[in-house]
Amino acid sequence: MTKVILKNYVTGKVKESDMEVVPTEAIELKVPEGSKDVIVLKNLYLSCDPYMRSLMTKHDEPFFLDFIPGKVIRGMGVSKVIDSTHADFKVGDFVWGITGWEEYSLISNPHDFFKINHPELPLSYYTGVLGMPGLTAYVGFYEIASPKEGEYVFVSAAAGAVGQLVGQFAKLMGCYVVGSAGSDEKVELLKNKFGFDDAFNYKKESDLNLALKRCFPDGIDIYFENVGGAMLGAVLNNMRLHGRISACGMISQLNLVEHEGVRNLFQIIAKGIRIEGFQVLHHYAKYPKFEEMAVQYIKEGKIIYVEDIAEGLENAPSALIGIFEGRNVGKQVVVVSKE
Ligand code: NAP
Repeated sequence: MTKVILKNYVTGKVKESDMEVVPTEAIELKVPEGSKDVIVLKNLYLSCDPYMRSLMTKHDEPFFLDFIPGKVIRGMGVSKVIDSTHADFKVGDFVWGITGWEEYSLISNPHDFFKINHPELPLSYYTGVLGMPGLTAYVGFYEIASPKEGEYVFVSAAAGAVGQLVGQFAKLMGCYVVGSAGSDEKVELLKNKFGFDDAFNYKKESDLNLALKRCFPDGIDIYFENVGGAMLGAVLNNMRLHGRISACGMISQLNLVEHEGVRNLFQIIAKGIRIEGFQVLHHYAKYPKFEEMAVQYIKEGKIIYVEDIAEGLENAPSALIGIFEGRNVGKQVVVVSKE
């Protein structure tokens, strides 16, 4: 058996060699005698998420639960309970939550695990559309951005785990939606699969300000911010009066030692723009309501979800690096075992 560890704290751009696949010390696949509220998990699907890069750098603030060099990397995953002394989890249950990048994990006090209520849907969906990224899209769009029918919505990193859902939620609300992504293949996906009204490849645009003017001649009401940097500055120039920016993520900054500045900040005052950031972990109480809505949308075919699947724990480091290079098309998942 194997596990993926962080070798050293990372400065600057994360590399595959910052992680290592190593043999696991033998563990008994049973809750240790006398331990209460412990579950043993067989990990099935692991999620590659941008926030994991932040945890590879050492922070002084206790707010960040940094990874520890030499120890297993922890991330969102879908698992099967194979032993349990916790009243809420029975052997055979499928769950999602923060597990280890290893075949089996022993979890004490699994209070932040959710039971999977719809195992009839692909279990891997609980790393994406029915998991943390899905809830992020839901909170960030419906609650933070306060959307109204007919509004102009722009989504960056639009073909990713969160962005593809934000675009579809916005279409269901009757908004006009444009997405940006880093390849022509993703732009096609946005327009022809997810139903975005328009999309552009930001890597091919020499002037982001002009690209946004072309797509939004009347300006943007809502920007769902996933990337930060130059895109945010260009968006500020193109916002409408009383526009809202849902600040979800700034992936372009995560591998920089020092974050870039943002241009055109004066537009926040001139146009009365509201910028509000959020962290999904403060919104987990809304998960049951979100899950009910998302399951219905999936079953009715109102939303679709694209995943990019890497096979095997040994390919997890490369899959994680891929999301910072835009290699993933859709939600990046790693399959450890299918059952
Ligand atoms: P994702 O979109 O599935 O994958 C990341 C994508 O970001 C890549 O595929 C790439 O797509 C794009 N990207 C990578 N480096 C970039 C750069 N330097 N400039 C511009 N784009 C870049 O990831 P996700 O899970 O949906 O996350 C999207 C954003 O939401 C991230 O910023 C993440 O941190 C944030 N997030 C926030 C919360 C929260 O609680 N606030 C929760 C989950 C996620 P392209 O091909 O388009 O470049």
